[in-house]
Amino acid sequence: MTTILDLIELSKWAGQRFDLVQAGGGNSSFKTDDNQMFIKASGISLSEVSTSNGFVTVDLVPLRKGLTKLHKQQETLDKKALEAAAEELLAKVKTATNVARPSIETFLHAYLETYAMHTHGIVVNTIACRKNWRETFEQIFPESLCVSYKTPGIELALELDLQVSAYIKEKGKKPSIIFLQNHGLIVSAPTAAEVKFLTEEVTIKLEQFLNITNNTYRLTSVISENIHNVFGASKVSYLSNDAGLRELIINAKPLFFQRPFTPDTLVYCGVRLLVLNDFDDADTLTKYKENFTEIPRVIICRDLIFFIADSVRKAREIEEVLKFHLAVLVINVTQNIQPQDIQFLEEEELNYLAKWDAEKYRQAV
Ligand SMILES: [Zn+2]
Repeated sequence: MTTILDLIELSKWAGQRFDLVQAGGGNSSFKTDDNQMFIKASGISLSEVSTSNGFVTVDLVPLRKGLTKLHKQQETLDKKALEAAAEELLAKVKTATNVARPSIETFLHAYLETYAMHTHGIVVNTIACRKNWRETFEQIFPESLCVSYKTPGIELALELDLQVSAYIKEKGKKPSIIFLQNHGLIVSAPTAAEVKFLTEEVTIKLEQFLNITNNTYRLTSVISENIHNVFGASKVSYLSNDAGLRELIINAKPLFFQRPFTPDTLVYCGVRLLVLNDFDDADTLTKYKENFTEIPRVIICRDLIFFIADSVRKAREIEEVLKFHLAVLVINVTQNIQPQDIQFLEEEELNYLAKWDAEKYRQAV
């Protein structure tokens, strides 16, 4: 049981990092001792996975056999027919009875180590789209494997399979770090901790090579850990990248702290926005817990805005509602209607709605 929890933790760690994955991109997998593989389901984002949602299991023995057959058929089948044969194989090897489809990249994971994670990192792609990509990656990571561009799915998987076999023949081990041209990175290792470490190491080395830093995205992990320590809950922190919000937090900060004027703001953004003195400031978070008994949905620290939710998708919904809230106030202020001229919701109604929402939430889980 611990192992699937490791995969969930790893997936959420990467899923909340915009610099590593975006939207439904990227995927992760874990192989059990009895040749089953947990693989992220298609259409689910890495930040959304949980013990009850987001993974599909596939049977590795027939999957690998099927891949060997597809290698042979590749000569005679055209691209579309090969993809159709691959889809058929995927449906056949799926062992869970739920309706979710395994990720299109399931085949990629079949020959890799126990834990594998594929990401679409910003700095990885900065190099992966350059014409001299291979030389650059090989120079910085001599032990890595570089795979030329192929259409994602079965074509890429078959190419990767050939390249991994050749790598094993030459070096006597599986590659831990694989770069995909015009696409991204795959890291695989015997433990989830190593996959996380290597993914971060590759990212940091490339940032150093490019002489840039994406450090702010790493703060999401610090905030999530802080919340985990104080509330014991596993949440995703999403760092706002919105230029409009960034401008407002500098030039119109007091507007962020006005009470909700409509129920949605409370339901999505919570009772109060929380300002932390530092990203790991547990004292302020603990006080918030004592006062409001709920996890803050919006955290501001050093003028960076974080949204706290169960997934990036839900965090972005909070961002959208906060933007709506501010848009209304900004228009009013520019038309000389100041906050004191606005009817915000009464404290009593806010308290009622807060409890009402908590009740709804409890029913949902
Ligand atoms: Zn991909």
